[in-house]
Amino acid sequence: MIQSIEQLCDFVDLSPDDLAIDFDSIFPFKVPKHFAEQIEKGNPNDPLLKQILPGLAERDVYPGFSPDPVGDLAANPQPSLIHKYHGRALLIASPRCDIHCRYCFRRHFPYEQAKKQHWQAALENIAQDHSISEVILSGGDPMTLSENSLVELIDGIEAIPHVSTLRIHSRTPIVAPHKAHRPTLLKTLSKSRLQTVLVVHCNHANELTPESAELMQQFRQSNVFLLNQTVLLKDINDSANTLSALSKKLFSQGILPYYCHLLDKVSGSGHFDIQKHQAWAIFEQLRQTLPGYLVPRFVEEIAGEPYKTLLIDPNSQDIKPTA
Ligand SMILES: *Cc1c(COP(=O)(O)O)cnc(C)c1O
Ligand code: SF4
Repeated sequence: MIQSIEQLCDFVDLSPDDLAIDFDSIFPFKVPKHFAEQIEKGNPNDPLLKQILPGLAERDVYPGFSPDPVGDLAANPQPSLIHKYHGRALLIASPRCDIHCRYCFRRHFPYEQAKKQHWQAALENIAQDHSISEVILSGGDPMTLSENSLVELIDGIEAIPHVSTLRIHSRTPIVAPHKAHRPTLLKTLSKSRLQTVLVVHCNHANELTPESAELMQQFRQSNVFLLNQTVLLKDINDSANTLSALSKKLFSQGILPYYCHLLDKVSGSGHFDIQKHQAWAIFEQLRQTLPGYLVPRFVEEIAGEPYKTLLIDPNSQDIKPTA
């Protein structure tokens, strides 16, 4: 771990005076060494640096941005379980992350409720609801759990007969691959009757390293499907070239692009936002240059909707698709 903002600045050969840093942010700074090592030295505009440096811009207030834009608190029937979409229940397995991404929509979420003591109740809730066939471990980041805790939780999920799919959402394999290397977990997954999907979270090709490639190889050998989700971020990855390079590099590591999320409008992240027509233009360019399986679905999460909503051509928005 890099211990402080000062240490990071030192590490990347930049002066804090040139970076408009907010040293008093309510969402604390956190970055693993591995991620910091991928930042280009001396470049204040590095796309990885921008994801983690607490900026004074986070204090700017933007209309339409709020603490819980995706309505998670309303869909939270009991501590640590979010059941918003048919067939899938999301369990907040850990309150922690290995990195703090400045754009994160969970920056205001009451994480204190994501405690291990709530797992039993959450699993009982899933066991009683036969419509749930997929359990998603999210967070925070489930990979911040100890290997034993994670395996214990997966065993509990496997014991529910109507659950057929396990999905793990984690940014750790990208930002701290050494930490995500878990031999017992891999063994558990390779033997499990559950179909397992690992959805990693990577926003830029520079985040992918030989170490992440090696780790992905191990997950694949354990029968785990690998997908990626990205957040579309202004001045970080908001171009077809950048996203195309990301898709190709993901594929070279055995990962298929899944979602490209439009930013959730969470307070403090307005400076990362992209206009919808720009997002659509990027999507169009990607479709023109990449094979279909390397084009992520561009989606936005609208509170109260029964699925993540596909971005549609803003020029034809008068034609509302029906269910
Ligand atoms: C995104 C999300 C899911 C998964 O949705 P998919 O479209 O299946 O990837 C499930 N539950 C919650 C609460 C989510 O936010
Ligand atoms: S939940 Fe994901 S996006 Fe948010 S801070 Fe944690 S790792 Fe980053």
